[in-house]
Amino acid sequence: MVAQLLDFDLEGLAAFCAGLGEKRFRAVQLYRWIHQKGESDFERMTDLAHTLRGKLAGAAQVAGLPLLSEHRSADGTVKWLFDVGAGNAVETVFIPEADRGTLCISSQAGCAVGCRFCSTGHQGFSRNLGTGEIVAQLWFAEHRLRETLGLAAGVRAIDNVVMMGMGEPLQNYAALVPALRTMLSDHGYGLSRRRVTVSTSGVVPMIDRLREDCPVALAVSLHAPNDALRESLVPLNRKYPLHELLAACQRYLAAAPRDFITFEYCLLDGVNDTPELAHELVRLVSGQAVASRGLGRIPCKLNLIPFNPFPASGLQRSPRQRVLDFAQVLQDAGIVTTIRRTRGDDIDAACGQLAGEVQDRTDARRRLALRREIIPIAAAGAQP
Ligand code: SF4
Repeated sequence: MVAQLLDFDLEGLAAFCAGLGEKRFRAVQLYRWIHQKGESDFERMTDLAHTLRGKLAGAAQVAGLPLLSEHRSADGTVKWLFDVGAGNAVETVFIPEADRGTLCISSQAGCAVGCRFCSTGHQGFSRNLGTGEIVAQLWFAEHRLRETLGLAAGVRAIDNVVMMGMGEPLQNYAALVPALRTMLSDHGYGLSRRRVTVSTSGVVPMIDRLREDCPVALAVSLHAPNDALRESLVPLNRKYPLHELLAACQRYLAAAPRDFITFEYCLLDGVNDTPELAHELVRLVSGQAVASRGLGRIPCKLNLIPFNPFPASGLQRSPRQRVLDFAQVLQDAGIVTTIRRTRGDDIDAACGQLAGEVQDRTDARRRLALRREIIPIAAAGAQP
């Protein structure tokens, strides 16, 4: 069987090379060729010993994902759609900003969590991506961008990675952690822990494991300040309710590279965007709503996200003024609050919108629809 070298973090590659009778420094050389130079042809790895190149030729490959499409937005956002087999596609988005280049990476084909406002969630779950399929998105994007942007040797295009694409990364933990290690490795992409963010809908036990195994920046998809409303938007809340999620966030902070947690909150017209809910959110993160559980204030930033409407959701974007009013309540309470700019609107850059056009997993959607009938969206202002 031919090994896919993008599947390995450095330790994994060292073990693979040891199996070929090669020393660790050869693995480091090989790893640098692959990730830092974007090379996939062993014959062009000129400082690798001939004998090693010969061994690799029959035993290994560096295989990117087949590219289905590339869309470039007028604002510089680039979205790639990759084929991951069996009619499934995943999306990767590059978002250029004045001070950094951010890549949004997918971790699963589809997603089992089924958040109501999420295009990916509406597609149902197909399968986990392997480590190599996660890393391949960064590998391709980094070297493609260096080429298209004409960057000088050694200048990197991507210095910020967010695991916020398709899928719940903490439900694909075994593949995620080696991928994170390659992102962080000085011999790989050399990204700072502060510049690699895992975004989760709240898989509590895996937040604790990530704290132990590979603490990077953490973003939590909150979207509601009470359990009743959150359960109707993020079904995983039934398994891990808010007090458990916030307790895990507090434990995470002890090891986190940043001294705050980012909470994501997608504003939905008439659902979770009222001033009352903004005040309830303040009480939640300040610890007042969960004080009886022994939880205190959580150092956090609130990232308010304008909803990207898609037909199957039945939901609408909150009016601009309501978003500003919601943000004002949080800011008045001393909470650092940002409103995410919408980027790449002209190329459907919201997660899952292109992949949803590629595949129609009717049965997955039907099962999801059945599940949702059980929990109607709670009315705005609902109390736990
Ligand atoms: S928001 Fe994230 S966790 Fe929720 S369905 Fe979409 S991809 Fe899955």
